[in-house]
Amino acid sequence: MTAAAPGLVLVLNSGSSSIKFQLVDPVVGTVPLSGLVEQIGEPDGPVADHAAGLRLIHRQLTDSGIDLAAVRAVGHRVVHGGNLFYAPTLITDEVVAEVARLSELAPLHNPANVIGIELARKDFPDVPHVAVFDTGFFHSLPAAAASYAIDHDVATRYGIRRYGFHGTSHEYVSGEVAVLLGREPRELNIIVLHLGNGASASAVRGGVAVETSMGLTPLEGLVMGTRSGDIDPGVLFHLNRTAGLDIDELDELLNRRSGLKGLCGVNDFRELLEQRAAGGSRAEAATLAYDVYIHRLRKYVGAYLAVLGRVDAIAFTAGVGENAPSVREDALAGLDGLGIVVDPQRNRSGKGARVISTDASPTTVLVVPTNEELAIARAAWQFV
Ligand code: ADP
Repeated sequence: MTAAAPGLVLVLNSGSSSIKFQLVDPVVGTVPLSGLVEQIGEPDGPVADHAAGLRLIHRQLTDSGIDLAAVRAVGHRVVHGGNLFYAPTLITDEVVAEVARLSELAPLHNPANVIGIELARKDFPDVPHVAVFDTGFFHSLPAAAASYAIDHDVATRYGIRRYGFHGTSHEYVSGEVAVLLGREPRELNIIVLHLGNGASASAVRGGVAVETSMGLTPLEGLVMGTRSGDIDPGVLFHLNRTAGLDIDELDELLNRRSGLKGLCGVNDFRELLEQRAAGGSRAEAATLAYDVYIHRLRKYVGAYLAVLGRVDAIAFTAGVGENAPSVREDALAGLDGLGIVVDPQRNRSGKGARVISTDASPTTVLVVPTNEELAIARAAWQFV
């Protein structure tokens, strides 16, 4: 008898200013309980620090009436695995120390991940804790895609390469595409467009990631809510020399005051669409923001077509990708000659995972809701 014993996985995503959690049944895929604590440490926030945040979550878990003995594993989303970690990893003291050391590469994220891990290990001392790395899926990038064209010794000494992020989502969605098409992942070339607050694209050949838009940090690539994505690094030198902005100010400019927000003042895509439809002077800025966003997306689709040579499927996912039909339509408009034909009707109707291209389109275009928590829960379940 090898039937899976019933049980739940607690999935924790401990970020710099929020902790999200889900209790997931990794076999059935249901979520009996989920929640989040936001604005940690902020003046108007509910809690002063992560420890208080996790206490709050523990109380929500206890108050829910769910038997916590059913929690058989804890899965932790960890942002940066560096060159060290890519597969889901059973957490030990040594692993925690290494994840903390990798904070150099992800100063906002890894320290918060470590705090979440340490607190949760105290709360749930008797079950396996498993780290699932956002960079993991992109460990397979070929050197030609992973390397920056800079001094080789400098790159080696400081671990400068393209790591990629959102890997759990890209892996999950590309796997779901194969399921939806009834094909084996190894037969398929897929472009995944993860468009949320952060946004990234990936090219997946036969189930293996061969290119992605994010780099050493999650700043490179597509236009995002508040991040610039691709930019000439010369802009930084220029702003430093002419405007006197120092490194921290430039960091803040590109990570928090750029992207859609920089272009039109709002980072939420729904607000952008409303502003664009409203007319007047604010609509002009919103239209430019939208156009820059779409243009960048098209460029990446074109680039990844060339990287893959043949593309069987393009999948849109995350908040914008799943819910903004105009983005899907505009990003792929006029690509009939390249074998991509979106069906306007299908694109604008329906819900959940679905095909939105015409039956005759050589490349199948899909909407595939992402589910990073389920992917993390399944990964953690392997260790039970
Ligand atoms: P996160 O990166 O925080 O997980 P999400 O994947 O939830 O982000 O995506 C958030 C983005 O999705 C926001 O910009 C939000 O405005 C956008 N979004 C959500 N619903 C819609 C919708 N119906 N139309 C357009 N954009 C949407």
